[in-house]
Amino acid sequence: LAAVGVGVPGPVDPVRGIGIFGPNIRWRNAPLAAMVRQGLAAADLEVPVFIDNDVRVAARAEFCWGAGKGCSDGAYITVGTGVGSGIVLGGRLFYGSSFIGGEVGHITVDPEGPVCGCGNRGCLETLAAAPAIARMARAVRPEWTDARDVHAAAQAQDPDALAILDRAAYYLSFGVGAFLNILNPELVIIGGGVSRAGEYLLGPLRRHLRDRAMPPAYERCRVVLARFTDTAGALGGIALAIERGRGDAPWTKAE
Ligand SMILES: [Zn+2]
Repeated sequence: LAAVGVGVPGPVDPVRGIGIFGPNIRWRNAPLAAMVRQGLAAADLEVPVFIDNDVRVAARAEFCWGAGKGCSDGAYITVGTGVGSGIVLGGRLFYGSSFIGGEVGHITVDPEGPVCGCGNRGCLETLAAAPAIARMARAVRPEWTDARDVHAAAQAQDPDALAILDRAAYYLSFGVGAFLNILNPELVIIGGGVSRAGEYLLGPLRRHLRDRAMPPAYERCRVVLARFTDTAGALGGIALAIERGRGDAPWTKAE
């Protein structure tokens, strides 16, 4: 064991190894990397520990070994309990000036919408993530409890299920469309639990994107499914450990 890489939800300072605040688990400026390092040291494993935001960690898996392999300008967007992203520009992950860069889930898409965990109203993730899909599902079919039920019904061409996924894709298109217009990426990878709906989500998303994005940006960008779902965190943790342990990103070199 040479190094350990850990993905952590919420904003993370990867340089100091600190969880800035936990959106669900309520920590504030928690020295998470040091805590993991101490835990490993207690088991006689003296290795460096690197942490980063869980979505950026999963993005590493996709850009190293998955759908984004060989791409140097793209975004990985995860749609699950929330909506987040990892942005790669010029072959490097983009962080911004206080490590918040890529929080696409908190773009306002409905100023009158539901209150979000961030304190704002009508953020993208309050309208397009798995809980929003479950809410829309229960409103039309009480027997549908979560996004999986909607996906299963969509596969059977149920019009209500198709309409719900179309609605989620419509809201997502505001976030993805902003990426297209601002960053002009060559690739957008959609991952997370909701992406299991596959083309039932991506088809409508591409259609709505045509309305959102400037034509040259839309025409250039491929919107594809992530390769990894359950293993993205583990693989991305390895990529993070390689990158930080060695001082360069593994995807910047042909391997
Ligand atoms: Zn928000």
